[in-house]
Amino acid sequence: MTQALSTKSLVDKDKQHLWHPFTQMRDWSREEVLIIERAEGSWLIDTDGRRYLDGVSSLWCNLHGHRVPEIDAAIRDQLDKVAHSTFLGLSNVPAIELAARLVEIVPRGLSRVFYSDSGSEAVEIALKMAFQYWQQKGFPDKKKFVKLSQSYHGDTLGSVSVGGIELFHQVYGPLLFETCTVETPYCYRWSGGFSDPDSVREASLAQLEALLKEQHESLAALIMEPLMQGAAGMILQPPGYISRARELTRKYNVLLIFDEVATGFGRTGTLFAAEQEGVSPDLMTAAKGLTGGYLPLAVTLASEEIYRAFLGRYDEMKTFFHGHTYTANPLACAAALASLELFEKNRVLEQLQPKIHLMAERLAGFYDLEAVGDIRQLGFMTGIELVRDRKTKEAYPWEDKIGIRVIEKARKKGAILRPLGPVIVLMPPLSISVEDLNRLLDITFESIREATQR
Ligand code: PMP
Repeated sequence: MTQALSTKSLVDKDKQHLWHPFTQMRDWSREEVLIIERAEGSWLIDTDGRRYLDGVSSLWCNLHGHRVPEIDAAIRDQLDKVAHSTFLGLSNVPAIELAARLVEIVPRGLSRVFYSDSGSEAVEIALKMAFQYWQQKGFPDKKKFVKLSQSYHGDTLGSVSVGGIELFHQVYGPLLFETCTVETPYCYRWSGGFSDPDSVREASLAQLEALLKEQHESLAALIMEPLMQGAAGMILQPPGYISRARELTRKYNVLLIFDEVATGFGRTGTLFAAEQEGVSPDLMTAAKGLTGGYLPLAVTLASEEIYRAFLGRYDEMKTFFHGHTYTANPLACAAALASLELFEKNRVLEQLQPKIHLMAERLAGFYDLEAVGDIRQLGFMTGIELVRDRKTKEAYPWEDKIGIRVIEKARKKGAILRPLGPVIVLMPPLSISVEDLNRLLDITFESIREATQR
């Protein structure tokens, strides 16, 4: 009884004082609010003790589950030393150790680590580095960025500029800088009408090459999420796409930035997506899973060639002008080190492979549901695109809130999901048990069935 009362008063205070991210607050004020109080492994527990499977890894970041003894202990140990000291003019122990470790495991050639606090900031940093690199190399005209349509790189102004989500450009357009766009190789909905991966890959790359050929003298970099465009609705790129993009950017002297904020740290079945085609970008961002989903920490990794372009006499002003109060926070770096150790100790990637296969097998059965148009899976990153008519691929109208209706049903059945429009996302912690994975898939199937039955 006391618990129920306290939940009610928390809900009232939430509705009175808070403004939630990416949320229409008028709807929020009318809806039931779920307040998480605790967690265990793959489960979130609310203030009334109800348990929910964390089906999207608390926004794609949790890897080893919640309350992992090794990560908890690493943070506590660091707390006994120092919680925070500035990285401007000073260094700290876990930040140094983590940087050295990261350089060992990221794609070859990325040798410098620049810390920040979120994926969006890591992208801002990559953009500023690419821009300043060319200025300092004596190519002042190389200022523009190339992006893929529908991409998402964060919600700050620079990262929205290089993002391709139409809605954000409609709202914030006047504040954004100009970019060039290549149509993303979205096989299910390629504008040319065909859908076989080889043709779509070639058509998209032909656009990229035409653009690079014509405008390379004014282009700083191409930025893309390698293999899987997450927030776009889990758009899976055809094999060979990123390696060819690498060849083309080299040929035309344009930098390549890989945004591995979503794909990094095992999510795609390998530690980084870029590994799957043996590709090394010039700059790479990572965040989300870096701390195992514990604390906000991000990195932008740069090649030595880029780093060297920033060296010079103090009065040459070649310094990289960026840095925030909490840059390289020691608690977050300690959590990240512990998370990386767990990859080895628990043989995370090896343990993951049978679960990836299980997910693929079970997902094939989802096509029994008429509303399932396309299923895109890479490792433990999955999008299930719902359509009103499978034959014509007719989309559900936005007002139908189809994705939201599915996740509301899932919540009642004990799983937390978050859709991307009509795409239902499944991204459980890498550590989820087979039993819980099956349960998550059962709940998702049932929820789609109920929400779409006519
Ligand atoms: N890049 C990608 C590919 C992402 O998926 C996201 C977040 N979903 C971001 C950048 C932004 O990260 P953050 O929310 O930590 O700012």
